[in-house]
Amino acid sequence: MTVELVSIGTELLLGQIVDTNAAWLSARLAEIGVNLYRRTTVGDNLERIVGALREALGRADGVITIGGLGPTGDDLTREAIATVMGEPLVLDEGEAARIRAFFEARGRTVTERQLRQAMRPVSAQPMPNPYGTAPGLYAEWNGKLIFALPGPPNEFQPMVTEHVLPRLAACTGGGVIRSRVLRLCGIGESDAEAQLSDLIASDNPTLAPLAKLGEVHFRITARANSPEEAAQLIATMEQAVRERLGAYIYGTDDTTLEQAVVHKLMEVGQSLAVAESCTGGLLGHRVTNVPGSSEVFVGGIVSYSNALKEALLGVPAEVLARYGAVSEPTARAMAEGVRQRLGSHWGIGITGIAGPGGGTAEKPVGLVYIGISDPTATVVRHQLFPGDRETVKYRATQYALWLLYKGVTCGGCVYLSQP
Ligand code: AMP
Ligand code: MG
Repeated sequence: MTVELVSIGTELLLGQIVDTNAAWLSARLAEIGVNLYRRTTVGDNLERIVGALREALGRADGVITIGGLGPTGDDLTREAIATVMGEPLVLDEGEAARIRAFFEARGRTVTERQLRQAMRPVSAQPMPNPYGTAPGLYAEWNGKLIFALPGPPNEFQPMVTEHVLPRLAACTGGGVIRSRVLRLCGIGESDAEAQLSDLIASDNPTLAPLAKLGEVHFRITARANSPEEAAQLIATMEQAVRERLGAYIYGTDDTTLEQAVVHKLMEVGQSLAVAESCTGGLLGHRVTNVPGSSEVFVGGIVSYSNALKEALLGVPAEVLARYGAVSEPTARAMAEGVRQRLGSHWGIGITGIAGPGGGTAEKPVGLVYIGISDPTATVVRHQLFPGDRETVKYRATQYALWLLYKGVTCGGCVYLSQP
């Protein structure tokens, strides 16, 4: 069973609203095993709507339209469907009565425009809309299914759930599509892809890379006759990916890196304190976004100035004078200083140049030193992060969280492998 979506509305093309209905519906279709191979967006123009519908119906078993069913002059979906079906529009008496009653109940008289919403192609059925005046449409035409739904999400979603999905599910024979996302850090998208190229060529389940800021995701999607069978297909693919890249996988689905780190720290009962310069508190912010982080997060010091690095963290003045604030020895002293002074098991120190100014040939914008310290050792890594100021800050916290995740899972800083 294949369907296509046609989203209708000039405001979508102008970028004034985002097509959240199509995204939401796409996810629902996947859940019931309906194949969605194409989505089209057209403006409020009869000729182009008709064209989009004809093309979609030429390819798919069914088409679902979104929007354009209201009372105003630019709402043309009914006319377009009638044109495609080669049928005249007639007034649906039941819907007309409902719309009249709606207005009478509010002390208003119904207008001709409002009644246009009760029009339907002769052989189509109205689809009840409990939350608005515009009914949807349902038609079977030349062996194809046509659904038309109104745009407002609070009307659209219940109508999809109550009318569209049950009809489509009956046509798919209970097939399902299930997905699982594996989240990786510490490896670039192209490196990861190169190691999985044979798996990425697989048809069912499919394996698709998604590059994110400071991490890479791989989505496994399986099509099967039952949820159990889909889970089995996914598990087999996940195992194959883990055998090759398991060292980089920190979580699945919606798990964030900061959640993975906090949960690991909870598991082993170890605490964390952070000393941040260029990230200005972002690391502490991300850690404290995780519910329950107070169990493991002692606190942080945003030591932006050299004076605070000295006074609060005990970074020696000679180190700052000789190597500068953005340097390996400063990151080391920050990590050790915050760990000792705040009494935590782990300490992290971040110092770098977020830009856009302040870079030199020797220390360019994006250069960040990250120190990580525990009772076994202190390790400092540096990276040259690309991007604007906010991106560099985010990437620095991402790298720090990843180092910490690796440090905790491998049993201590002393076991952190070389980069
Ligand atoms: P319409 O049914 O085309 O008159 O649209 C009515 C309202 O529904 C619009 O003003 C939007 O606020 C909303 N809407 C229409 N289409 C979409 C869509 N594809 N996704 C999300 N909201 C939409
Ligand atoms: Mg519209």
